[in-house]
Amino acid sequence: MDLSTRYREILMKQKAYSYVLTIAGWDSNTEAPRGAFARRAEMLGVISGELFQLQTSNEYQEVINGLFERYNELDDITQREIKKAKKNLDKIIKIPKDEFIEYNKLINLSQKVWEDAKQNNDFGSFKGNLDKIVAFNKKFIKYYKIDDQPYNVLLDEYEDGMSMKEYDNFFDTLKRDLVPFVKEVLNSGKVLNDAFITDIYPKEKQKEFANYLIDVVAFNRDNGLMKESVHPFTWNTHSSDVRFTTRYLEDFMFSSIFAAIHELGHATYEQQIDSKWDNTILNGGTSMGIHESQSRFYENIVGRSFEFWEVHYPKLLEIFPKQLKNISLDDFYRGVNKVEASFIRVEADELTYSMHIMIRYEIERMLFSDEIKVDDLPKVWNEKMMEYLGIEPKNDSEGVLQDVHWSVGMFGYFPTYALGSAYAAQFYYAMKKEIDIENIVKSNNIKTINKWLKEKIHQFGGSKTPKELLLEVTGEEFNPKYYITFLKEKYSKLYL
Ligand SMILES: [Zn+2]
Repeated sequence: MDLSTRYREILMKQKAYSYVLTIAGWDSNTEAPRGAFARRAEMLGVISGELFQLQTSNEYQEVINGLFERYNELDDITQREIKKAKKNLDKIIKIPKDEFIEYNKLINLSQKVWEDAKQNNDFGSFKGNLDKIVAFNKKFIKYYKIDDQPYNVLLDEYEDGMSMKEYDNFFDTLKRDLVPFVKEVLNSGKVLNDAFITDIYPKEKQKEFANYLIDVVAFNRDNGLMKESVHPFTWNTHSSDVRFTTRYLEDFMFSSIFAAIHELGHATYEQQIDSKWDNTILNGGTSMGIHESQSRFYENIVGRSFEFWEVHYPKLLEIFPKQLKNISLDDFYRGVNKVEASFIRVEADELTYSMHIMIRYEIERMLFSDEIKVDDLPKVWNEKMMEYLGIEPKNDSEGVLQDVHWSVGMFGYFPTYALGSAYAAQFYYAMKKEIDIENIVKSNNIKTINKWLKEKIHQFGGSKTPKELLLEVTGEEFNPKYYITFLKEKYSKLYL
């Protein structure tokens, strides 16, 4: 049997195992009874072990290395696949197995330690674990023997081709051009008619509106579904089965509305990927940053626009006539785009959101360049909050302990959130040259936007890199200027 055929066979097996794990994971995160977790973990552990075996077996290594040696004889698609497979493989096999197991154990335990620390507002009880996680990551990076700075290796893991050079440029631009503007908005003294935001909106009624939104975004219900979870997320196995969740807070309806639109953005991306990638490793969205650009596009550019609420506010009024009785469309639109300095990233508004990411980026950068230690995190965190948002957390639970990421070893991930918003703005200005976005949203025809995104971005799945997509779709490399222009245009009108 030739190498390519063997590669396809092993890949299909890996995919079948992943499929089972993905579906079981969805179930764990949505409907599985709590009592089932111990047995489930045991069973899934066996399957994960099998998958790990398939991903690291001698046979698989021979196949990938063999194909990699014949790289020039491969067709373009297989070249991309093998390049990606080789990169993944090299990373997995370079870490000694016992250390890999020890690290995974540490990660599994640390999540609970972090949860408790956050609950008890006690950074000290989490510090030891975090220290070990950082040390493991530094050690693993050395094993990879990639000739680069440690933090660059982590950044590249979540966004192909991104390094401190690009991110420094991005965040420096934000610091120079956006931070002063954010301060101006925060100090504008504008008073909103916004008490309605925290009124009580019964969950069942919120569900009705979330359901309505699925059709507004023209999500294909035959190939996907929506459920409820504590933290909203999108989960997919392939383009014909894309699932997502939202959550319902009775005293904060916006949480459910914008989580639903955000996840619908992720989900639409996944649904519109050409099924021809299903049996390759180029299936799924191409990167965290591009994925986030799609969710932010729907959430912020479409979902927080005046035109969107011009069409859909009447429906919301119909569902909540009492709560929204004296709220005009204009009040509502301003409420949706309310800006305030706040402590919690996931609740931050569109304008101040990237400030939260900048803080995390700068901290991770210093941590992996050995400029600061885990011990210093709370202090550095609070100083930076003061510097960019003018507020200081009262305790670590609303400061350095708020996010789960570091407790599961995800360093280098945060910056992709801000990058996604900035990509979204760059795509927006490119789209605007070709179609009348405002009119399309106003006439409740989001299908036309979906179609554009499918043609230019979605259909390609992981077969194009973020850098290629940006260049092909917008005619230039990543340029943070669009993001700043978008925010300034929108929020000057609202606040200044
Ligand atoms: Zn997202």
